[in-house]
Amino acid sequence: MQPITLHTFEGGIHPPENKHQSTQTPIATLPLPPQLIVPIGQHIGAPAEVIVAVGDQVAKGQLIAKPKGFISAAVHAPTSGIVTAIAQRELPHNSGLEGWCVVIDSDGEDRWLEEIASGSHNIDNYLDTENTWLIQRIRDCGITGLGGASFPTAVKMSVENRTIETLVINAAECEPYITADDSLMRERALEVIYGIQIMLKLTAAKSCLIGIEDNKPEAIEALKAALKSIHAEQRIAVVTIPTKYPSGGERQLIKILTGKEVPNDGIPADIGIVCQNVGTCEAVYKAIAFGQPLISRITTITGESVSQPQNVEVLIGTPIKHLLEFAGFQQEKSLFQKLLSSVKTQATIQPKPRIIMGGPMMGVTLSNAELPILKSSNCILAPSQKELPANDVASACIRCGLCTEVCPVELLPQQLYWFSKAGELDKAEQHNIADCIECGACSYVCPSQIPLVQYYRYAKGEIKEERIAQEKSNRSKVRYEARQERLDREAADKEAKRQARAAAAEKAQAAKKAAAAKAALDDSSPENSNAINSAAIAEEKSQEPIDLEKLQEQLDAAQAGLKKSMDKIAEIKADESSTQDLAVFEKAVANRRDKVKALALQIAEAKKSAPVVKKEPSADDRANLEKKLRAQKDRMEKTQQRVDLAKQQDLDSLPALQKGLDKQMQKLKELENELAQFDKAEN
Ligand code: SF4
Ligand code: SF4
Repeated sequence: MQPITLHTFEGGIHPPENKHQSTQTPIATLPLPPQLIVPIGQHIGAPAEVIVAVGDQVAKGQLIAKPKGFISAAVHAPTSGIVTAIAQRELPHNSGLEGWCVVIDSDGEDRWLEEIASGSHNIDNYLDTENTWLIQRIRDCGITGLGGASFPTAVKMSVENRTIETLVINAAECEPYITADDSLMRERALEVIYGIQIMLKLTAAKSCLIGIEDNKPEAIEALKAALKSIHAEQRIAVVTIPTKYPSGGERQLIKILTGKEVPNDGIPADIGIVCQNVGTCEAVYKAIAFGQPLISRITTITGESVSQPQNVEVLIGTPIKHLLEFAGFQQEKSLFQKLLSSVKTQATIQPKPRIIMGGPMMGVTLSNAELPILKSSNCILAPSQKELPANDVASACIRCGLCTEVCPVELLPQQLYWFSKAGELDKAEQHNIADCIECGACSYVCPSQIPLVQYYRYAKGEIKEERIAQEKSNRSKVRYEARQERLDREAADKEAKRQARAAAAEKAQAAKKAAAAKAALDDSSPENSNAINSAAIAEEKSQEPIDLEKLQEQLDAAQAGLKKSMDKIAEIKADESSTQDLAVFEKAVANRRDKVKALALQIAEAKKSAPVVKKEPSADDRANLEKKLRAQKDRMEKTQQRVDLAKQQDLDSLPALQKGLDKQMQKLKELENELAQFDKAEN
């Protein structure tokens, strides 16, 4: 591998290391505690979901809470025993909040789950295995980052959509007093390297840089020897870096090893880097190779209040007092006589032991020793008052600026302090308080002994609460607006449909009117009285009742005209001296005969096919009928006179006249009959 050029970061401090106290003996194994308190939410992300019940017998390594959601981690029974409670218990956290825990009373057997004990979960060729299988096993085994943040490792290693150039292994362990990683590397270097090989496979990184401070020579040698033993030096390099606090910060270590800066709002994968703690490497190896879940870790127990500072393999959930007792805890040494900050009274309060989870820079002072060890508990520090005085006598800020000089993130700690103290959270945010890694370097150098980090933690907590509330409010707002939008949309749709229906109705009405107007126009147009309309009219006409009476009148008139013409011809023939043109009258007779014939035929046809109009008889009708009857009688009288004359003169016209008279007689009878019918109907 190419020689590595080291870089540096701004600020930083060099506090007394106090590491040698706990590295004098090999890693010890803690005797089994009688009871374990196992929190189900000891990682970043959603708490796991408990799958056991009170009274259940559990084996060591048995799943007791499964991951709930993508960013979550499984929790397993650290030993065999009986679940005696599933309850809220106080957790070792700044907030002092409680969290759900599975309480297991140990049966003293420390009996592994059969599958693990039998070795059926063991796998040798894990480097030839699919990444998805490896990731799933890491998830199943509940592996989380052991460096402090406790981020689920399976999530961090799922980088299939990113190109990772470098895997950075954080072996710096820069905080004073803590030597858990140091002892791990000294004693289990090969397991660490095996874990790194698995991570290299998962990330497909070209190389791995193990960043380790130069104050751990034994660990450095052990790692190099392990690498050499398996010929893995080509891809994995142990990089010794100068001891400076906090070079073990993820961003600081990446900067030292690669010169790259992780974006403020980004993660290392954004710049092609994945960073894992050295302890996590061993946990991953044990999970992949043996199916062992994360149920224990190496924890440093140190400080002047314990007689045997050392590193101990501790089961997760072990009450801290059990570890303290194992290390020879001397309570009298750890008592802190805390002064009240009130200048007026200067009264004292009851002294109590001071136990810190973590180191002196970033650790959390615990409220009591009953709290459990977590997956992230790398150190339990029980200092004496002389060794680590409490910052309870803070004085006013003298604006010395020392805090700014040492800040590794290049923040303005003094400003952040003022904003946090005044509750000006928006200003604290503007000054990037979110980037503060809570390293405590500023507090360490502050001549006024102001517990600066505590102010930042408080402010960050408040901002987080505010953000959660704001997000909740935003979600409610979004839901409300979405609902309102939906209601508005539905109302608009309804209105649009209503308007469309109204418009369609109006259009149809207009079309109807237009059609009616056109029809009226068409009907009234003389030139459009064409065949179509003619047909219709003809049809209409064909439906009209035929006026037989009218036809009859026409026929009568035609017959009368015919008779007159025939009489004239008879006169002309009878008068030899007449000069009138006989042919003209004969032609007229022929025409009138045709007309009589046509009308007679028409009447006959009409009587056959056309509906006969049955008129309601009226007074006028009767008068007309009587009038016709009188006219017919007058006509017959005249005809009779002509017949008589023709008989007297023995004229040739006599037969025709007689025939006409007969017809008139017939007509007279019809009229009389009609009148009789009329009278009958009236009565
Ligand atoms: S180191 Fe302390 S006293 Fe000095 S400026 Fe910062 S907060 Fe103020
Ligand atoms: S605690 Fe925050 S503000 Fe203080 S030195 Fe560390 S990073 Fe900077």
